[in-house]
Amino acid sequence: MPQQNMIPVAKPVLGEEEAEAVRRVILSGWVTQGPEVAAFEREFAEFTGAPFATAVSNCTTALHLALRAVGVGEGDEVITVSHSFIATANAVRYCGAVPVFADIDADTFNISPNEVERAITPRTRAILCVHQVGMPCDMAKLAAIARAHGIALVEDAACAAGSEILWNGEWQRIGRPHGDIACFSFHPRKVLTTGDGGMLTTANPEYDRKFRLWRQHSMSIQDTVRHSSSKVLMEQYPELGFNYRMTDVQAAIGRIQLGRLPGLVARRRQLAAQYRELLSNIEGLVLPAEPEWARSNWQSFCVRLPEGLDQISAMQTLLDQGVSTRRGIMCSHREPAYQTEPWRAAERPGGGNPLAESERAQDTAVILPLYDQISIEEMHRVSEAIRLACACVHP
Ligand SMILES: *Cc1c(COP(=O)(O)O)cnc(C)c1O
Repeated sequence: MPQQNMIPVAKPVLGEEEAEAVRRVILSGWVTQGPEVAAFEREFAEFTGAPFATAVSNCTTALHLALRAVGVGEGDEVITVSHSFIATANAVRYCGAVPVFADIDADTFNISPNEVERAITPRTRAILCVHQVGMPCDMAKLAAIARAHGIALVEDAACAAGSEILWNGEWQRIGRPHGDIACFSFHPRKVLTTGDGGMLTTANPEYDRKFRLWRQHSMSIQDTVRHSSSKVLMEQYPELGFNYRMTDVQAAIGRIQLGRLPGLVARRRQLAAQYRELLSNIEGLVLPAEPEWARSNWQSFCVRLPEGLDQISAMQTLLDQGVSTRRGIMCSHREPAYQTEPWRAAERPGGGNPLAESERAQDTAVILPLYDQISIEEMHRVSEAIRLACACVHP
């Protein structure tokens, strides 16, 4: 049984407005992909500044369609990170391609552009970068590498709705996109949620056409069109498709959530700043870095424990104090599902573990509670609990 006054890691913001929107959709009699999805797509495109946005069932399916659209197929290589939720690497495997893991930069937990360059081979078809826990990747460097080598750049922006990047002297939202395609998640662990859901944004009309076709079984005539036609229409299925649709019920929630998003992000930035103040004088504790060209949505506030402190016992100390946390982001290559599957890592010139920083991040980072309704008292409790946990190495 969880303690009554346990501080959770995350809590979605869902209220009467979302409930009312769902009610409206249910009573409309059209619950699958329809007018609400179309409206959500328009509004999401406007929000991100993207010319095109296509809604899908989740970010994993978005990643699959994105990689397929840029031509990733059997035997190709896609450079990505192991240090991510497993869906990132899995999407590469869905295409029959080989994930090539590049290590991360220690300070941002994001893919290292230098490691990406090292990983390129004649078989490299795409770079799949991840804006980990909402912190933008170095898109300027990654885009330059992709351009120089004639390979596609896909953004796993699962966590990054509302994050921003300084681009040609202007702050732009993630998803504009800054690569070829950006993929978002609306899982409840992210800042904007529809229960489950995803979105693809692109500036390429041909990619967008493919997403719309593939997400609905590659059906040549959409059911909404057939439904409202006065003539009998027969659809065709010109190529292999999928059922990756978002429902109108989810989209109606998403539209309300999108309206909340600027406020949610502003609040999270405030809370992150508060954590910085509260945690600034704990010896050895490393706070998350935010490059001057990036503004995170702070989907998670991920700290690195002092050297020598055992992660599990630190998390247990926190839990004993009523503070739940999560370990650092996982490494896909350490999971049984990757034990025998083909993947490789970019070799280090001097040798040694090519994914050392990814593993160190998983083993030494801890995600702290951060959610809209967290109180300053609760944040004080979190910081005191961390102080206690860290005292075990720095008495
Ligand atoms: C959450 C997440 C995903 C998967 O998103 P779903 O919508 O649950 O499919 C993919 N990549 C990253 C980095 C994530 O954090």
